[in-house]
Amino acid sequence: MPPIQLLDLAAEHAPYQAELDAAWRATVQEAAFIQGPDVDEFAAELGAHLGGANVVPCANGTDALTLALLSLGLPRGTEVIVPAFTYVATLEAAALLGLRPVLVEVLPDTFNVDPAAVRAALTPRTGAVVAVHLFGQCADMEELTKICQLAGVALIEDNAQALGATFAFASGETAFAGTVGEVGTTSFFPSKNLGCLGDGGALFTRTAARADLLRQLANHGQRQKYLHQRIGLNSRLDTLQAALLRVKLRHLPAAQSARQALAARYDAALASVPGLHLPARDARSSHVFHQYTIKVEGEGRRDALQQHLKAHGIPSAIYYPLPVHQQPAYAYLGYPLGQFPVAERLCGQVLSLPVHPGLTGGQQEFIIAHICAFFAV
Ligand SMILES: *Cc1c(COP(=O)(O)O)cnc(C)c1O
Repeated sequence: MPPIQLLDLAAEHAPYQAELDAAWRATVQEAAFIQGPDVDEFAAELGAHLGGANVVPCANGTDALTLALLSLGLPRGTEVIVPAFTYVATLEAAALLGLRPVLVEVLPDTFNVDPAAVRAALTPRTGAVVAVHLFGQCADMEELTKICQLAGVALIEDNAQALGATFAFASGETAFAGTVGEVGTTSFFPSKNLGCLGDGGALFTRTAARADLLRQLANHGQRQKYLHQRIGLNSRLDTLQAALLRVKLRHLPAAQSARQALAARYDAALASVPGLHLPARDARSSHVFHQYTIKVEGEGRRDALQQHLKAHGIPSAIYYPLPVHQQPAYAYLGYPLGQFPVAERLCGQVLSLPVHPGLTGGQQEFIIAHICAFFAV
């Protein structure tokens, strides 16, 4: 059995290595490295994949968040509501723009933002809510959409982890994650479900006008060369990455099914392990399992399980070990320890298991066997 990896991109790419090689060779030959034709073609293909959304590529997922907020034109000091349990980039973008991140609690089962906490955090200074579809499952878009509409604030979706997931609304409508709010953002960091071979990102929006604005902001605030209407960023997706992403997008449905099949096998095998909680499924959302994240009850038990697995050559990861309000850089926000008990507890309980499409059945059996051995079941 080959060594188990948390993410095995070489194994994932192997079946279509020749397609990737052809793509980079063609890009090197064409030599249109910035804004080459592949960038627009990739954007159109991804848009079609996501039910017709406008897609604006950019340099990475953090820039996508910055551009999304920048496009709202919020005055400095405007409050932006973000979950207390997320990757730091979600609030970093707001903080860098001089906006004030307002943290709110998450739900203990889905790990996603608690709509009631969002409602309670609204003030006359709120300008936007950033929902994060953590680990591959949509936040409660039904409630969040209603809350934001009623309050007249923009809903931004940080969709770095749930590209391709769908959410079913009570109205009967179904929408792709990232295409519901005013702007959706994603990342093509190599470990994401649709990852490139370096850094990359994109924005989603339903309106052509917002797409035009985002495109302008991502390219030095210019629509026409050397005419700068706005202060923007240099945040473009490299042609090379776009060419490689076009290949990987074709293989995304198979990769997504592989992740879902692995998740279903973990679910079945670990369902009756006492003290271990499976990832909760929200019936309204599909789950694309960017991470398969279990919760382990009991003081020190999660860390003991991680050590046990490591001793048997099984990697796992803790997303995230420290809630954002406890990060030194965000101490200025003034949230004491104990302010977000759910987020704080999750940091001590979560463990993400290997769920990448390159994981073999034999490797997964081995992982399951060692988890069961740890819990003596
Ligand atoms: C990865 C990630 C980002 C940042 O994306 P980069 O491309 O690494 O800048 C933002 N938010 C979440 C939730 C992420 O997982």
